Amino acid sequence: MSKSVIVVGAGAWGGWTAFHLQKAGFQVTLVEKEGPGNVLSGSGGKTRIIRMAYGGSQVYTDLTAQSFNLWEAYSKEWNDPLYHEKGALWMFRGVKPTYAELSIPLMKEKGFNLDALDLKNLSVRYPEINLKDITSAYWEPKVAYLEASRACGVIADKFKEAGGQYLKAEVEGINYQEDNISGLTFKDGTVIQADEYVFACGPWLTKLVPEMKGLIHISRQEVYYFDALDQYSDLPIWLEFREGDQMYYGIPDHFGQGFKFAYDERRWSLDPDQDDRGIRDGILAKMRGILVNRFPSLKDSAVLKHHTCVYENSLDGDFIIDKLPKAQNGLVLAGSSGHGYKMGPAIGKLVTDHLTNQKAIPSEFLLQRFEKSSARKSQYEV
Ligand SMILES: Cc1cc2nc3c(=O)[nH]c(=O)nc-3n(C[C@H](O)[C@H](O)[C@H](O)COP(=O)(O)OP(=O)(O)OC[C@H]3O[C@@H](n4cnc5c(N)ncnc54)[C@H](O)[C@@H]3O)c2cc1C
Repeated sequence: MSKSVIVVGAGAWGGWTAFHLQKAGFQVTLVEKEGPGNVLSGSGGKTRIIRMAYGGSQVYTDLTAQSFNLWEAYSKEWNDPLYHEKGALWMFRGVKPTYAELSIPLMKEKGFNLDALDLKNLSVRYPEINLKDITSAYWEPKVAYLEASRACGVIADKFKEAGGQYLKAEVEGINYQEDNISGLTFKDGTVIQADEYVFACGPWLTKLVPEMKGLIHISRQEVYYFDALDQYSDLPIWLEFREGDQMYYGIPDHFGQGFKFAYDERRWSLDPDQDDRGIRDGILAKMRGILVNRFPSLKDSAVLKHHTCVYENSLDGDFIIDKLPKAQNGLVLAGSSGHGYKMGPAIGKLVTDHLTNQKAIPSEFLLQRFEKSSARKSQYEV
């Protein structure tokens, strides 16, 4: 008889993992407390970017290349456009473009391009963008945006159609017996059991697995949609690196719902259950300054919509995929660190291969790396 697995959490990581496990013949139960890609979760919101440039990192280049293929393939197979190719402009201000330059050879090996741009030509091509303080720029043609929340719902539906069991319930506790998990307890006291357990709980993980507390911090990520529908609708996705290891990005034509702009700073913390998710005026003022410097005509644009999302960051910005500290039959998928959505399909495959053939998990993701300690705070540090 096939092995049973319970996956907790139906965000991008848990949903794709349940989907691939079900396809591989496991008996899978996907447990979710709110809903796939719900607005409070890390996968909530309208869009996420998928891009191949990953500095010199082979492991993320491999996972992203595989994910590109899977997003494209499933969008076609399901005849559902979850993947929208747009291309992206990478801009660097006051920092060497080492991240881009290191990406180029690894991307080439996978058949992807990242091309250096001439700044003079660029300012002719995009007069709406202030390029005076930009020191270098690159064009990545295959960057796309993915329909974030919606895709999580679609994947959960495909999982159910394939025979997977979906339960809307909150897991309140993990029951251990010696060095194994013997079951999960729901809020109403019901216990469910399986051979294997996968925890993809995003920012709520440490409630179930308190041992992980020192390894994860949750940050507040405000996303704004500015009123700028017409004048920027031809612009591609853009990403800007600045001195101080900061990154900002936007999707100018966002389903006709405004000019999406967000930051990648992780300095503001957030309790996913307790904290107010309204706009913080201080953060908005800072972000508006950065945006208006780059797109001066947005000076007086109103914020049409706003969403406060969460990053679940590991200490070093790398993912955590490993056995639970206290259980042989439990895997934890955590530390998606603000860049994990795109890789959901490949993470799901990785977990499935691991549970099917004991395929090794890349050492970059194992917990033992923290024994050596690391101070890296962002995926962009090279
Ligand atoms: C503003 C913003 C922009 C981002 N941009 C990008 C981007 O452009 N590209 C990219 O690749 N990534 C991006 N990311 C990161 C990416 O979205 C996340 O890394 C990814 O979505 C995390 O997915 P997850 O499945 O690990 O967690 P989540 O999506 O948080 O899912 C966890 C799920 O578990 C459920 N759950 C938790 N505890 C329990 C429990 N006890 N019982 C039952 N259910 C439970 C929750 O309800 C939730 O649905 C961005 C993130 C944010 C916030």
